[in-house]
Amino acid sequence: MARKLSALFMLLLLCVTAPVASAQPTNVIFFIGDGMAPAQVEAAGMFAGGPMSFESFANQGVVTTYSANSSVTDSAAAGTALATGVKVNNGVISMAYPGDGSDLQTLLEHFQGLGRSTGLVTTTYMTHATPAAFGAHEPSRNNLSQIAGDYLNQTQPNVLLGGGGNGMLPAAATGAGYTVVTDAAGLAGLDTEATTYVSGQFGSSHLPYEYDGLGALPHLSEMTTTALNILDNNAGGFFLMVEGGRIDHAGHNNDIQRNIRETVEFSNAVQEAIDWATGRTDTLIVVTADHETGGLTVLADNGAGNAPTVSWSTTGHTATNVPVYAWGVNAALISPVMDNTDFWEVMTVPEPASMGLLALASLALLKRRRR
Ligand SMILES: [Zn+2]
Repeated sequence: MARKLSALFMLLLLCVTAPVASAQPTNVIFFIGDGMAPAQVEAAGMFAGGPMSFESFANQGVVTTYSANSSVTDSAAAGTALATGVKVNNGVISMAYPGDGSDLQTLLEHFQGLGRSTGLVTTTYMTHATPAAFGAHEPSRNNLSQIAGDYLNQTQPNVLLGGGGNGMLPAAATGAGYTVVTDAAGLAGLDTEATTYVSGQFGSSHLPYEYDGLGALPHLSEMTTTALNILDNNAGGFFLMVEGGRIDHAGHNNDIQRNIRETVEFSNAVQEAIDWATGRTDTLIVVTADHETGGLTVLADNGAGNAPTVSWSTTGHTATNVPVYAWGVNAALISPVMDNTDFWEVMTVPEPASMGLLALASLALLKRRRR
């Protein structure tokens, strides 16, 4: 009787702990708000009159961001940690420094190796540090033309959407087999069912701030939607990194008006991914940041439509932990306190219970083959 009861208990335990997920996520969408810590999210929510889209995600935590050689990271080292699971020195793009200087495999390359489509989307110029950490290997983030060369000739993501110039040239992208678009109309005019490689080179530097108006250039949410519509043509899945890159720039300038609007548009981009993924059971969405910028503190809510009253402590980055919000397959692997090197495992390793199921399934398959 006792044995029967304990078996029943084990069964119940299995049912309770069995995750919704049954495998590695097929589609991984990785959102990075550059310079977006909890205070930036709070300030944007006060302006918007409600929480950011990703604040509804069930699995949340905070992330430590220090680099290999500094308690305060830059975007290159933080991007590398997020992209490769390895801490490097500030300024380094996905190479082993400290170490032997070898290339560190990125999530983009990992998923490409599994036959997935890949994409990088940002509001900074395309060769800036965060996207570079996913699609390039360079000893310095300042090697802009080399980073462009790494994208176009080495890692070749299907989708590259961001600001132009700074090493990216339309002719070089065309020569590498990319369809080049240079404004919102060109982006909207793409046949997303037929496009396999696209390079969006919007303007000659970072995209303008939302506060100042985008003119003929696309919003982050529009770039995200187009990226999803191209990448989802691959039935085998995809990896997409989307960066809200200018939250950081407004933070450096201690400019709360531009900071909150960049965060709101970042939230809009996440909402596009939520809309795309709703009803699916094969997708992981992770929203986090690379570091905090500005030492922001929110002092008073001035109501929706108004910037809150705030204070800033620096025009640089800080060591403040950043938030993480996750939805979908493996979202439960997000822990209350994690490090920026932990995302590699969350995105690439199936949940333990799922591994058990996978092992059982492959065992059954083996038995069948032996017959
Ligand atoms: Zn910065």
